[in-house]
Amino acid sequence: MSDIFSSLRIHVDGIVQGVGFRPFVYNLAVSLNLTGFVRNTSSGVDILISGEQNNLNKFVEELRNNPPALSKIDSIQVKPEPFKIFPQFSILESHTSPGDFVPISPDICICPECREEMFDPLNRRYRYPFINCTNCGPRFTIIRDIPYDRPLTTMDGFKMCDACAAEYNNPTDRRYHAQPIACPECGPQAEFFEPGESSAFAEDAIQAARSAIVAGKILAVKGLGGYHLACDAFNAASLEFLRERKQRSYKPFALMAKDLETIRKFVEVNPVEEKCLLSPQHPIVLLKIKKGVNNLDLTAPGQIYLGFMLPYTPLHLLLLESASDFPCVLVMTSGNISEEPIAYKDQDAKLRLSTLADCYLTHNRPIHMRVDDSVVRVIGKNLYPIRRARGYAPDPIRLNLSLRQVLACGAELKNTFALSKKQYAFLSHHIGDLENMETLASYEEGIQHYRNLFRVSPEVVAVDMHPDYLSTRYGEHISQLDNLPLVRIQHHHAHLAACLADNNNVSPDPVIGLMFDGTGYGTDGHIWGGEVLVGGYTGFKRRFHLQETLLPGGDSAIRSPSKIALSQIYCAGLPWEADLMPVSTYQPEYLNLLRKQLELMINCVPTSSMGRLFDAVASILGICHSISYEGQAAIELESHVDRLDSQSYTIKINGDEIMSLDLISQILTDFRAGVSVPALAARFHNSIARLCLACCETIRSESSINLVALSGGVWQNTTLLVKTSALLQSAGFTVLSHQRVPANDGGIALGQILIADAILKQ
Ligand code: ZN
Ligand code: ZN
Ligand code: FE
Repeated sequence: MSDIFSSLRIHVDGIVQGVGFRPFVYNLAVSLNLTGFVRNTSSGVDILISGEQNNLNKFVEELRNNPPALSKIDSIQVKPEPFKIFPQFSILESHTSPGDFVPISPDICICPECREEMFDPLNRRYRYPFINCTNCGPRFTIIRDIPYDRPLTTMDGFKMCDACAAEYNNPTDRRYHAQPIACPECGPQAEFFEPGESSAFAEDAIQAARSAIVAGKILAVKGLGGYHLACDAFNAASLEFLRERKQRSYKPFALMAKDLETIRKFVEVNPVEEKCLLSPQHPIVLLKIKKGVNNLDLTAPGQIYLGFMLPYTPLHLLLLESASDFPCVLVMTSGNISEEPIAYKDQDAKLRLSTLADCYLTHNRPIHMRVDDSVVRVIGKNLYPIRRARGYAPDPIRLNLSLRQVLACGAELKNTFALSKKQYAFLSHHIGDLENMETLASYEEGIQHYRNLFRVSPEVVAVDMHPDYLSTRYGEHISQLDNLPLVRIQHHHAHLAACLADNNNVSPDPVIGLMFDGTGYGTDGHIWGGEVLVGGYTGFKRRFHLQETLLPGGDSAIRSPSKIALSQIYCAGLPWEADLMPVSTYQPEYLNLLRKQLELMINCVPTSSMGRLFDAVASILGICHSISYEGQAAIELESHVDRLDSQSYTIKINGDEIMSLDLISQILTDFRAGVSVPALAARFHNSIARLCLACCETIRSESSINLVALSGGVWQNTTLLVKTSALLQSAGFTVLSHQRVPANDGGIALGQILIADAILKQ
């Protein structure tokens, strides 16, 4: 025989556990007549194979080119070994060594095969709401520790029946080593109850829950990462109850529709958005409401977008099953009061949701880590994350850079934290606004869990420069406790670094950063937010910024765009005429008081915030005078833009100061002259886009920098993002915007990681 025989040792890094990787390797090896073994380790997957050289080559080629759909391979190392014969190919026990880690798969929506089985009356899992396989089901939310094996998940309390065990142990089965494997005989069960009444189980539970929805009740539903509150999206009374109970006056509710065809009845869905709705993550996608459609108005007042998702667990599919008397769209909002984190433990949910929900559809598979739904929008061909959570976290941001071990504490609103090791930045799922004890507790638990899961021992702690953020205080505490150096990072510098990292730009060359948001603590102790920076990971220069105006009463003014408008009109040196929209919302006595406060500068915080400029314009145009959720005024202002109006105002720049108050006075004049609100809303957006171009051209003429990064919450405004990018690109600039992490403060922790890493390496 002239064939050459040899052996190879292969190590695969990345998301390779809990995604059907070992069965894939097994079947591939067997089909190529190779012997040896495969096993999970705490740093990935190890393979040893022996056989004919040609087949070994084919094996490696298939591994590289056609790995299982849900795996994410970061590297494949192949080393020749002395030739060794094995009796067969086998899957060995997992092998762990201390300190090693492997990225963990996020939770994945039900796969097409499981879906088919669930609706097949002959299948033993017919209508079983916890059906799953190696291609789908819960992952991150049920994992207590690594390696990802059943005893280390919240499925450890369920003993597999013989039929499930046979599937679990059969390398050719789709459920081979599917850790959450379950069936009606041995797995979790659904339960429905109304306080004070006896419970219904299994199919009866689902039917009882459906009847409750039809009766207009508010149902708490236990999902993958926590409880939702669900109700009929077309029932005005239910919606009103829910808003009142959730203390959420105008904030839009997320919607779950039974299928894609239903979603198309209400909103425009382009092919990229369709792909995104159907992706394994099944996020909430913000989609543009169709002209003339208004029967979902009450779920999202004042919006031109609705946030839709499709059922992502088998339980959701059964709950939303088609029927003539059942609504095709449900509101599915997080199970929490106002800004508290989503409820996820059963006892806690019963307690905290008792004033919100009429009844419960729950189950006995514990959730180990609470995770909210993700929210994304599609801009052009790209995903633009708004809230990065279920389905995406804890998949790390991979960088072309080896990172030191850093703990980054993030910001305050829309907080996320991050940890780093090797080429990975583990950006956490969305934690929420760190404004109450509940959220802070969930933040601290989250950090402990990630530190343990990914075996990170931080060498440094990075915090925001804001002294009063709870995340800053937490970081200070940890740095003292563990005796670690602390670095304080300017907020907009972190936004800039986050955008560079998001685009995997690891070059040391400086870029232009258009960092526009609501609030960030500046190096001068003032509130920044309309910043044009030049820099990179190692440092920055504040080249331009918006003219400072005053925030009367500090942060509390943020809730009143009318107050901000009055302050900006005052700062522009213009009188508060009675016919001005923001003036007309107040009593004369209050106006006198406010004027005194501004004149005497009592508790007036200077700010260069771009978010506040949007607030002021929204109020001046009579669109929004007070808000009930962050960014509301800017969102409503954007919804008024006349797409056809291309006029703009010129905004002067004096030295490093952008004269934004001139813009305020020009808009006021035109508003009074009778120019329409949609035209003015458009011209305001156009003006900011042109301003961006002017700033970038000046900087390019000074330094020949051609790369521009766009970050900060203001860039969630699609109109501004699209207009600005187009202008910059046609002037020859390369534009970096976000695609893996949010432009808002949910991305700050990633930026902090990169900056702290750069400081450590200096
Ligand atoms: Zn499946
Ligand atoms: Zn079973
Ligand atoms: Fe920010």
